[in-house]
Amino acid sequence: MVWMNIDIPERKCTIHTNSCRYVQDKKETKYKGIMELKEHGGWLEFETTSKAENYQKSRFPEYRLIICKCN
Ligand SMILES: [Zn+2]
Repeated sequence: MVWMNIDIPERKCTIHTNSCRYVQDKKETKYKGIMELKEHGGWLEFETTSKAENYQKSRFPEYRLIICKCN
């Protein structure tokens, strides 16, 4: 599984592996959800990187797509 951080104010989507420290440290806030999108976006889980990329292309095509390299 991978996680995608959708950042609406920054207009970017970042894909992280499960073991990434940003995934370990993610937490729900008033404006960012986990497994749901709030006003500033949130974290969504996908089976594969390509499924996450397809979601970004269909839902947020104008956003930058970033693949995290921190594992
Ligand atoms: Zn990461």
